[in-house]
Amino acid sequence: MAVLTGKTRGGADWTPTFAESIDPEKCIGCGRCYKACSRQVLGPMDIEDEENYSTRMVMSIVAPDNCIGCAGCGVTCPKKCFTFTTLEI
Ligand code: SF4
Ligand code: SF4
Repeated sequence: MAVLTGKTRGGADWTPTFAESIDPEKCIGCGRCYKACSRQVLGPMDIEDEENYSTRMVMSIVAPDNCIGCAGCGVTCPKKCFTFTTLEI
């Protein structure tokens, strides 16, 4: 097994890091990551907010197989909700 790597346009080594999870406790549902992702990986999800007896929207990973590992979503997130993983091949 090896970690999937690629090259930048300039020929430098690059290791894609794929969106693995989003922490629903930290997420404020701002949608910045959703707008940043060009691969339709992310989508809103309603969860129970037990403190306020209501529901609230958080972001979720709806199409993980579409992810290209750019990590752009994590860069835009103001709450550091994302974890990323490399891909074993
Ligand atoms: S790593 Fe890139 S492609 Fe994957 S979910 Fe984040 S922004 Fe989308
Ligand atoms: S950018 Fe962060 S806080 Fe905003 S919706 Fe995405 S995961 Fe949630």
